[in-house]
Amino acid sequence: MREPDDLPPLREVVHKHDLMPKRALGQNFLFDLNLTGRIARSAGPLAGHEVLEVGPGPGGLTRALLAEGAERVIAVERDARCLPALAEIGARYAGRLEVVEADALELDPAALFSGTRPARIVANLPYNVGTALLVRWLTVPDWPPRWSSATLMFQREVADRIVADERRPDDYGRLGVLCGWRTRARILFDVSPQAFVPPPKVTSAVVQIEPRADPLPCSVAALERITRAAFGQRRKMLRQSLKGLGRDPRELLDAAGLPETARAEEIPVAGFVALANALA
Ligand code: SAM
Repeated sequence: MREPDDLPPLREVVHKHDLMPKRALGQNFLFDLNLTGRIARSAGPLAGHEVLEVGPGPGGLTRALLAEGAERVIAVERDARCLPALAEIGARYAGRLEVVEADALELDPAALFSGTRPARIVANLPYNVGTALLVRWLTVPDWPPRWSSATLMFQREVADRIVADERRPDDYGRLGVLCGWRTRARILFDVSPQAFVPPPKVTSAVVQIEPRADPLPCSVAALERITRAAFGQRRKMLRQSLKGLGRDPRELLDAAGLPETARAEEIPVAGFVALANALA
């Protein structure tokens, strides 16, 4: 039996191309095209857009992105075994799928987009590199980036850290500061382990991340230095945890207008930006 896009069901595709999932590559595949369709639609309108997808695997999400009208999908896949399956999708959607065999950690998304069409990122990320990829995308020198949204699947626990601020201190950390500084991020919905083949041990969540056009001015490097020191000893007062930065922490806190007794998890993003600017 064929699917509505006239391609075979993903279970068949995986069988035909012998795509035994590899744990080392974070391969937990989605076979349900209703679910991949939901993820693709939650990214926002795709017509006329270029979409970067990291880790297409056998192509469940890729198919949904194309069926939902993406003009061009740039799919970056590290596992060469997936390429024949992706070529079949490329033949069905002629001229609209470009597959790049590469490690996404080594690519700059800005270089992949043509720059002539609006762009989005949509991906069911491999868990072992998801956070590193997001940090890489959010720490580029030029901001705002070319992409207008990133719709990404993470482990629920990572999703909680992405959207956390000082009002959710248990999840708040360096990732929450970085995401809160340059983006607005929210969790859209959870996805149960049973949706994947093989099922991971934990629940996943789809997160929508939209770049802020005008984040508070701040050096990325200084913000990273401050948050690394502050959250490295998160239960300590900042006058203690900021000691290793080569500056008097009291002076930094004073310049940032923050109390000496404050702890990292109590400080809003604007406070970290003020500290980073005082340091820089
Ligand atoms: N998109 C497919 C789906 O939803 O069924 C597969 C998602 S699976 C969670 C992650 C995919 O990312 C795998 O196909 C894996 O081979 C690929 N991958 C892992 N590490 C990668 C990397 N560094 N760069 C590009 N792709 C990678």
